[in-house]
Amino acid sequence: MTSTLKPCARCRFCGGRLHPFVDLGMSPLCESFLAAEQLNTMEPFYPLNVRVCGDCFLAQVEEYVTPEHIFREYAYFSSYAQSWLDHARRYVAMAIERFRLEPSSRIVELASNDGYLLQYFVERGHEVLGIDPAENVAKAAEARGVPTLTRFFGRELAGEMVRDGRTADLVIGNNVLAQVPDINDFVAGITMILKPHGVVTIEFPHLLRLMAENQFDTIYHEHFSYFSLLTAERILGAHGLRLFDVEEIWTHGGSLRIFACHADDSRQDTRPSVAALVARERAAGLDCLGAYAAFAERVKETKRKLLDFLITAKRAGKAVVGYGAPGKGNTLLNYCGVRTDFLDYTVDRNPYKHGKFLPGTHIPVLPTERIAETRPDYLLILPWNFKDEIMEQMAFIRRWGGKFVVPIPEVTIHP
Ligand SMILES: [Zn+2]
Repeated sequence: MTSTLKPCARCRFCGGRLHPFVDLGMSPLCESFLAAEQLNTMEPFYPLNVRVCGDCFLAQVEEYVTPEHIFREYAYFSSYAQSWLDHARRYVAMAIERFRLEPSSRIVELASNDGYLLQYFVERGHEVLGIDPAENVAKAAEARGVPTLTRFFGRELAGEMVRDGRTADLVIGNNVLAQVPDINDFVAGITMILKPHGVVTIEFPHLLRLMAENQFDTIYHEHFSYFSLLTAERILGAHGLRLFDVEEIWTHGGSLRIFACHADDSRQDTRPSVAALVARERAAGLDCLGAYAAFAERVKETKRKLLDFLITAKRAGKAVVGYGAPGKGNTLLNYCGVRTDFLDYTVDRNPYKHGKFLPGTHIPVLPTERIAETRPDYLLILPWNFKDEIMEQMAFIRRWGGKFVVPIPEVTIHP
């Protein structure tokens, strides 16, 4: 399933030298949940060590997992989450108005998943093409009326599309850039398929937020790259694209939506938002190696604080359980070495995960009903980005004096 690829000793974008950023030790792949019969077998662990390029400041992990492994059978169907659908619908309305898209305009989405976004363009009569290598999600997209190519995107496919006259007025790439091993091939492909006055929008988790809010648990083996706007602008520029606007959006704990066009397209003026955000990143030191080294220290301190809390609670005879089984929870628990010695179990609303065990830490995943039965003293919220919603849903634990614990950005207790 996985293969050990040649370690990339140089930056995957510019070939520059890599420097230490944050080392989370050895960890299994965050979505490899285990069945009971797998608990006594060997489990592959890979280094989760992020380094940063001293020239372009692209933060990156080595590839221990192939894109084929990540994408061929993708378990995440975007349409399952209402908040994603609302986000997509608003984007489509904005794009049609702002870029004056006509029914004849062609819209191409890279990593189009199950068509959760393109379906709203189809509804409004636009010609769309989704590209996604995962066959299961592509099938779901086709069923929704979204034509989808099950291919990896890069120069090769872009060349075929240009030959077939399938260039695009709007190219969309949401939450895909981090998972692309050959970033130059991918962005070069975008430039190739973009019409002379076409626009590309790309969304990705913002490295500035990851660092400012200590979101180190959003680092996974499956995410090869972590971008600041500074670095994104440089990568697009190297492939003849000009970044002309940027918006900060709420997804994944804080993301950017960037807008770009061909460098020589005079239709789009570069908005002040770009320079303003670049200035904020420089002020935060994202263009100096020192800021990256300081982050590593903060991550270690967060681990010590979480373990302090857990040790004190267990010595006082308290029961602590988890809420949720997200990828970020697995990064956190493996890095901190938290197993059933600290967390009795975790619960999840997704029935697919019930009866399974978390990778590496082997903490059992149970239905949420178990919490009312065992009445734990503390509930550790792993998907902290949904903490308000979870504390509201689980408010009943207060009846027996139960408290919520949020681990990120720092351990906080909510009575
Ligand atoms: Zn670089």
